[in-house]
Amino acid sequence: MTEVTTGGGFGGFSIDFGAGAPADGTDIVPVRSTSSEGPLEATVVIVGSGPAGLTAAIYASRAGLEPVVLAGHEPGGQLMLTSDVENYPGFPDGIQGPDLMARFRAQAERFGSRVIDVAVDRVDFSERPFRLWADGVEYRARAVIIATGASALWLGIESETRLRGRGVSACATCDGFFFRDRDVAVIGGGDTALEEALYLTRFARSVRMIVRRDEFRGSRIMQERALADPKISVEWTSQVAQVLGDAKVEGLRLRDSRTGVERDVALDGVFVAIGHRPNTAVFRDWLDLDEKGYLHVHEHSGSGIPGVFVAGDVDDPHYRQAVTAAGEGARAAIDAERWLESEDAAMVASAAAS
Ligand code: NDP
Repeated sequence: MTEVTTGGGFGGFSIDFGAGAPADGTDIVPVRSTSSEGPLEATVVIVGSGPAGLTAAIYASRAGLEPVVLAGHEPGGQLMLTSDVENYPGFPDGIQGPDLMARFRAQAERFGSRVIDVAVDRVDFSERPFRLWADGVEYRARAVIIATGASALWLGIESETRLRGRGVSACATCDGFFFRDRDVAVIGGGDTALEEALYLTRFARSVRMIVRRDEFRGSRIMQERALADPKISVEWTSQVAQVLGDAKVEGLRLRDSRTGVERDVALDGVFVAIGHRPNTAVFRDWLDLDEKGYLHVHEHSGSGIPGVFVAGDVDDPHYRQAVTAAGEGARAAIDAERWLESEDAAMVASAAAS
């Protein structure tokens, strides 16, 4: 099984934010700090560059906070893996996921955000300034916004990767609309898969659920709903051996989990719904996580540590939409700005009193 991170920077190219950098991302030098520079000090460091991180960067930079964005392993996040995005407000004709994220990044950089294409591998939130390390370089920040997203889990087979965005998707809400009157499959037997299958019945002619065991993992009520739906059928004890098709999905080769016997089924779309994993490993020792590893949000966008804020899918197993993540990014930046102001005011008051 493989996973794809949601937080991130830009796959395939890095951007030199220095003067005269080409705007189209071509012929550009990767943005890296070196350890010889010593710790890089910033008022705000934003970890992750999906919709939440880059929206936080737009707000923080417009507030004059000159944020540094540590873009992560998969810059731009999950939208970099999506083709048409038709549910992001402001784009009545739709927009390609990578184009949308390039616009987020350009907008953040326009106001002075510095986006660095590195992934944070260690943090120390025990004292201020907060400290973060990426690629051997230390960053120090008065405030931190964590927007590292969640990773959609994938099967990890070559044909799945090759046909992603060409009929293979991990998001029915994003892509279901494109399968009107088509035959689709949903891989997985948990609540996400059941929910995706039920959602897809609004568009698709038929929805086959591909379940590797002889029972669902999801909740009983969702199972009952799915089994009662005339458009939904279930292929029990079935593993995906291959996604069929060259330029687009044409079907699935299924292997029976018990007998090993293979058979092909014709399909137009495949939705992988075998779970997500929040990208919280580096924060585990410092912040409250729920049993699935998602960050707990305390008051507003607070993480529980004053000065550390949380935004996007990293705290949200429920909605997981670009627009909700962007909204959380705005909230976190506003909270960070107000918190910094209150800290400054407190410092001034204490200096005046002494
Ligand atoms: P789950 O881990 O609950 O389910 C994953 C499903 O995918 C299981 O059926 C699992 O099979 C299957 N699976 C995992 N790996 C593979 C693989 N390599 N090949 C084939 N099948 C595979 O994840 P969900 O995302 O469904 O749910 C996560 C949590 O979020 C759950 O607690 C769920 O209840 C919750 N949730 C709640 C919703 C709601 O309340 N509306 C909506 C969505 C999620 P197996 O069972 O054999 O391991």
